Amino acid sequence: MDLGINGRKGIVCAASRGLGRGCAEALAVAGVDLVICARGPEALEATAADLRAAGVSVTAVAADITTEAGRAAVLAAAGPQVDILVTNAGGPPPGMWSDWDREDFIKALDANMLTPIALMQAVLPGMMARGWGRVVNITSVSVKAPVGVLGLSNSARAGLTGFVAGTARQVAGKGVTINNLLPGIHATDRAVALDQGVVKAKGISYEAAQAERMATIPAGRYGTPEEFGAACAFLCSQHAGFIVGQNILLDGGATNLSM
Ligand code: NAP
Repeated sequence: MDLGINGRKGIVCAASRGLGRGCAEALAVAGVDLVICARGPEALEATAADLRAAGVSVTAVAADITTEAGRAAVLAAAGPQVDILVTNAGGPPPGMWSDWDREDFIKALDANMLTPIALMQAVLPGMMARGWGRVVNITSVSVKAPVGVLGLSNSARAGLTGFVAGTARQVAGKGVTINNLLPGIHATDRAVALDQGVVKAKGISYEAAQAERMATIPAGRYGTPEEFGAACAFLCSQHAGFIVGQNILLDGGATNLSM
């Protein structure tokens, strides 16, 4: 399917690895010129080089997107026309309700709520003025089914989801859509880190921890960054203009909300 976005300009945050990279790859194949960021320059440059093989222009900005300076650098590299924005950042660490103080919450809110909000506030006026725009926020399955050990993530994602629910409907009339993609377990470094948390907590092998988590997924496997990226690219496509303010689960059926 031709996604109809060849030649569009996009930003994909936190895109040197994992789900962000999956989104950048799918958008590059669809012909979108990209600005991508991550903190570590080495993996970022390598990813940018791979993406350029699709024949698009890719600018790599080594920056922490959760800081004001990082966001300013990414937005400056993108210039005045941003047609597509994919927000993403690393997820907060797992823990117990009693582990976290105010600073921990501020850090999680900065990364997974206030950063995507600031980026949307920066690009939405231009998108609305031009009459076309697509925003996809990478959030988490925890929005629909909060994960016990991810209290910081649950809290920050819930805040972002609330902001998007109103904003998506306020901008839809100008040809701009905002949607959230909610990953369940995907085979990325983040999933490995969470599996290792289970190894530590339960004193079992890595393989056993992985098998235990896979058994909770009806699809019987983890998702891949490639299929996540394809879903993101569709939401950014010309064909997705009537999908507004949705929270779309990509979780292999793990969260049963069908009744
Ligand atoms: P990942 O494999 O660990 O990759 C994270 C990517 O983001 C890397 O490119 C990393 O590069 C970059 N990054 C992290 N923090 C950043 C920052 N502050 N500024 C700029 N770039 C940053 O993670 P993932 O699995 O793709 O997860 C992406 C998001 O989805 C996370 O918020 C995660 O919580 C959420 N999620 C993932 C899963 C899953 O199963 N994978 C499930 C639910 C939710 P640098 O380290 O070099 O910055």
